[in-house]
Amino acid sequence: MNIAVVGTGYVGLVTGTCFAETGNNVICVDIDEHKIQKMKDGVLPIYEPGLKNYFERNTKIGRLTFTTDLKEAVENSLLIFLCLPTPQDGNGSADLSYVLNVADDLGKLFSEHSHWEFKVIVDKSTVPVGTSEKVREKIKKSAPEFNFDVVSNPEFLREGLAVDDFMKPERVIIGTSNDESKKYLEQLYEPFVRSGNPIYFVDEKSAEMIKYAANSFLAAKISFMNEIANLCELTGADVDKVRAGVGSDSRIGKRFLFPGVGYGGSCFPKDVKALINTSRENEYDFKILNAVVEVNENQIELFLNKILKHFDNNITGKNFAVWGLAFKPNTDDVREAPALKLIKRLLEENAFITAYDPEATETTKSVLGDSIKYVTDPYEALENSDALILMTEWNEFRNPDYEKIKTSLKHPVVFDGRNVYDVKKMKELGFSYYSVGRPF
Ligand code: NAD
Repeated sequence: MNIAVVGTGYVGLVTGTCFAETGNNVICVDIDEHKIQKMKDGVLPIYEPGLKNYFERNTKIGRLTFTTDLKEAVENSLLIFLCLPTPQDGNGSADLSYVLNVADDLGKLFSEHSHWEFKVIVDKSTVPVGTSEKVREKIKKSAPEFNFDVVSNPEFLREGLAVDDFMKPERVIIGTSNDESKKYLEQLYEPFVRSGNPIYFVDEKSAEMIKYAANSFLAAKISFMNEIANLCELTGADVDKVRAGVGSDSRIGKRFLFPGVGYGGSCFPKDVKALINTSRENEYDFKILNAVVEVNENQIELFLNKILKHFDNNITGKNFAVWGLAFKPNTDDVREAPALKLIKRLLEENAFITAYDPEATETTKSVLGDSIKYVTDPYEALENSDALILMTEWNEFRNPDYEKIKTSLKHPVVFDGRNVYDVKKMKELGFSYYSVGRPF
C-alpha cells in the first residue's frame, strides 16, 4: 500500500518505518527541514532501540522516503497518517492547531486535485473526542466533493519500547464507520496481529476516548501508588513489600505500581489534563483525575523537601550530581521529565548541578542550556558533589561501583527518586540514603 505519514516525530517515524518494514511504500513528511535532511542523509533524529536497523534497511531499498512537501507525500498515497503534536494549550486542553492546519492544507490540495482517488486520513495523534469530525469538516470546507474518509487510530506505543510495541501491539483500535476504510486498515494491520491479538473496530468517538481512558488510568495507578508510598513513610510500612503484595493480585497487576518522583513524558501529563478539560466542557467534574494531577505535581516537591531537609533547608552553593535526565529509561525524550523539573527547583534554591544521562544530554541542553554542567561519565558527575540524585532508572545505574560513589562524593549521600538501590545495602555501605516510601 502507498502510505503518507505526516509528522515524523517519535510516533510518525516509528509508524512509517514499521509500515515500510512490512512491505508498504511509505513517504514521511515533516515541516522540520533539518530533520528531513538528516533522515535523507541516513541519520535517525531520535534514539529508539531497534529502530536503526529497520530504518536503514527500508531507506536503502527506497521503501521509506522523506520530504517536506505535503503534496508530494499525499498525491499517490491511499492512507494518510496524521502523527502530529497535540500539546497542552494554556487552559489544559489539547492544542489541535497542528492537526487542523494540516486538515486545512489537505482540503486545499484535494480541491486543487479533484481527480485524485479516494483517500483515507488516519489520525494517530492523541486527540479529544470529536476531533475526527472536526478534521472531516475542515477538509470538506475546501473540498466538498472530494471522496475521502477520516479514521481514528490511536497509538499506544511506549517510547523506549516503541518498535516492539508497534510490531506486536496488544490491540489495535480502529475508529471508523466506513467499510472501505475498514477493509484497508484491516489489511494494513494484519501482519502485526498474526499472533492473535485483536483489532477492535469501533466508532470514531469511542476510539478517541479509549486512548485518553488508557493513559489516564495508568497515570492514576502511578499517583495512587505514590500516595501509598507517602503514607508508608509516615507509618513505617515498606512500599516495596506493599507493592509486591498488592501487585500479585491479578485484578490489580504488577505494572505501573512503582512509586517515585511522578510520571512525566510527552503523553501522561497532557493527556490527563486534556481529559479533565473534555469533562469540564461537558459540565462533568472528573474528581479522580484532578487528584491524579495534584499528587503527581506534589511528588517532586516532597522529594525536594527531603533534599532540603538533609541540608538544613539551605542548599545555596551546594553541588549535586544528577544521574538520569530522560523522563524514563531508553529514550532521549525529556518532555515533562521529572529530572528537569527537580533541577529547575534546585537551581531556584541556588544549587549547582552536574548531570549525566546516557542518551538525553542533547535534548536537555535544548531546554536547560548552560544553566547546568553536562558530563559523559557518570562518575565524573560525582566529583566535588555534595550528593547524588538519581532521577531515571537506566540499567547502567542499577549496579554501580558503590565504593567509587562514596569516595568521589564529598559526603556519601544518595537521593534515589526511583527506588533503584537496596535500602539495607546502602545502610551497610554507610550511605545516607533517601528513597520513596521505604524506611531507612
Ligand atoms: P513529536 O513532537 O515527536 O513529533 C511531531 C512531529 O510533527 C515533529 O517532527 C514536527 O516537526 C511535525 N510537524 C508539526 N507540524 C507539522 C506539519 N504541519 N506538517 C508536518 N509535520 C509537522 O510528537 P510525538 O511524540 O510523535 O506525538 C505525536 C502524537 O502522538 C501526539 O498527539 C502524541 O500525544 C501521540 N502519542 C505519542 C506517543 C509517544 O510516546 N511519544 C505515544 C502515543 C501517542
